[in-house]
Amino acid sequence: MVKKALNPLKIDFKKGIIENKLQQIRNSRTTTTPDLIKVWTIEVNPKDSKYVLDLIRTKTQKQDPISMLHIKRIRKITNSDTSVSLVVVIGSVELFEDKNSVQSMLHSFRKDLKYSNLSSSHEIPKEGPQTKELMLQWSDEYWPLVWRGNPNDQILNDYTFNMPFIEDILLKIHRLSQEQYENGNIYPIVTAFVDPNDSTNCIYACDTRAQQESSPLDHSIRIGINAVSKRLKERKKVIDNAHTEGYLCLDFDVYTTHEPCSMCSMALIHSRIKRCIFIQPMTMTGSLKHKSGDGYCMHQHKLLNSSYEAFQWVGDKLDPPEISQSTCC
Ligand SMILES: [Zn+2]
Repeated sequence: MVKKALNPLKIDFKKGIIENKLQQIRNSRTTTTPDLIKVWTIEVNPKDSKYVLDLIRTKTQKQDPISMLHIKRIRKITNSDTSVSLVVVIGSVELFEDKNSVQSMLHSFRKDLKYSNLSSSHEIPKEGPQTKELMLQWSDEYWPLVWRGNPNDQILNDYTFNMPFIEDILLKIHRLSQEQYENGNIYPIVTAFVDPNDSTNCIYACDTRAQQESSPLDHSIRIGINAVSKRLKERKKVIDNAHTEGYLCLDFDVYTTHEPCSMCSMALIHSRIKRCIFIQPMTMTGSLKHKSGDGYCMHQHKLLNSSYEAFQWVGDKLDPPEISQSTCC
């Protein structure tokens, strides 16, 4: 991780464009209403605030699967007798399953810690919002938040790119796609699979739907995944060995001429790729851009337990042969 100012890449943080060539594809619609998660809270006397901060620092902050760096841990409330109490977020319900486990943790921390109203009735946004306005709105509606800038800026800044390599592969699949078209393939769609541990030896796959005895599901991405599997077997490695942790394309980069359909984008989720870069968006059948198809944004769908990075090439003109927008790629 480098500081924003030291990043050698030119990043347009506002538009999410890297080096004027790659457009970050993200699910921007999910950001106006937060996913909420229940948290355990206790009330303490303000004079005990140093104990609870110590408690959070040593007992819950690092252990909690939910990062809470975007929320204020402590909120002041005025009681009916005008005395002031502090409501403190101890940890998420993912860290502590039930009241007993919170109580025993509190007891193990300080036998004499005085607290009241231990409950899991408060909900916080699971992640920080993208804008300051939204941060203020969510602070009002749910729980006081901290503004640390747009979290996507950090995501953009942490990406790594080997631009010459990326451009080379994109030129290659573009050229192969032209060749397919000239040879009469009515589905001139081409995908490249790059193994992070063997990047000079990448697999190129063409759509074979138009060939005789092929399946209508023989999209280039499926063909490519099968080729990766075949290569693994040929190298006499079983598919579910330690190297891939059971996932076929773990941390692969995938380059494709046309935005993948729902079947293919989901297949990429199953095979645990790291990144997908496509050239041509498919407005009717694509499954990555939120303006494509039904707006699945499959690569970062919040109901799936896995995700990958996605980018569209927006640099110098690469025009794959035109195909019908109703084609699933
Ligand atoms: Zn497909």
